Amino acid sequence: MIQTAVAIAIVAGCVGYVVWRWWSVWSGKTAGRGGCRRCPPAPRGELGSARPTAPARKPTDLNEVVRHSMAVVMNQLAVNHVDLALDLMAELPAAFADSNQIQQVVVNLLLNAADAIGPDGGRIRIITGIARIPPRGHAVVRRATCPRGHELMDPAVRIGGLAGIRLLARADGPDLTVHLDPVYGRAQNLGFGSIHEGVETSFCCPECRRDLVVPEQPCPVCGAPLIAFLAAPGDPVHFCSRKGCRHSDWPSQDLAGDRSLVELRVEDSGKGIQPEDLPRLFEPFFSTKGNRGTGLGLAVTWGIVESHEGTIEVESRVGEWTHFTVRLPLAPQS
Ligand SMILES: [Zn+2]
Ligand SMILES: [Zn+2]
Repeated sequence: MIQTAVAIAIVAGCVGYVVWRWWSVWSGKTAGRGGCRRCPPAPRGELGSARPTAPARKPTDLNEVVRHSMAVVMNQLAVNHVDLALDLMAELPAAFADSNQIQQVVVNLLLNAADAIGPDGGRIRIITGIARIPPRGHAVVRRATCPRGHELMDPAVRIGGLAGIRLLARADGPDLTVHLDPVYGRAQNLGFGSIHEGVETSFCCPECRRDLVVPEQPCPVCGAPLIAFLAAPGDPVHFCSRKGCRHSDWPSQDLAGDRSLVELRVEDSGKGIQPEDLPRLFEPFFSTKGNRGTGLGLAVTWGIVESHEGTIEVESRVGEWTHFTVRLPLAPQS
């Protein structure tokens, strides 16, 4: 039977998660540590073992990193009879990256590809270029406070590997702790835990209990009150208070528009990844290789990309191919 579906996991900033997870709000009761089946469990200690040291970032030629990485894995590729093709963009703008850490990423992806190909041979293609990425679906909230400066990021509850944004919700029942997905605006699924569909909910800071409603600025879609937290002083992120309405906006990101990133793709003609394995692919100790791999390779890869504030995506067709795409910020213009 030919499997035609292409399974995609998008890892925004990190352990990407499957496509229905964006900007969800979760009840603390159901989304607590280990309680949410779709969340990577990622207890801090465990993920910590896959977390790299802080990157020493400077302007880095990704093409150069690719050439060094190939030298490292050449023997392994030869053993697997891999046909390697390079499609490197000439005059590629510099990434803002730690070249040693990114080399580890490229080596991991190449070894992973060689492994997917197995001993009978196949093709790997490495492509570099520039990608234009819209903020919606990609920008990640990495800092969040209430207007009085209380911290809202909650590293104890991770959504797609990233710290969730913790708020207190008040609707028709007792107060609930909820966590917002820190990835901006992707196919929002405002769950609001046990809150009923259509109910307007008030949200407040869990520390000072200050109401986070935005005065005199209703939701442009449904007219319900808008809620705001701050991604930086003077940089509000808004979402609609009514469960079921999917509106959100992040004015500073929307105004800045599409962002250019340096892109690296590793394509292989290997056995592909089972759709059910995609959501766990970047978890520490998850391995599709039986006893052969330690399972840390892709978790380390994820951790490095995340620490660069980059993204990693994987697309795969079972029995045919897998494509990994890593995107890294450009080096600041001097
Ligand atoms: Zn507060
Ligand atoms: Zn609305």
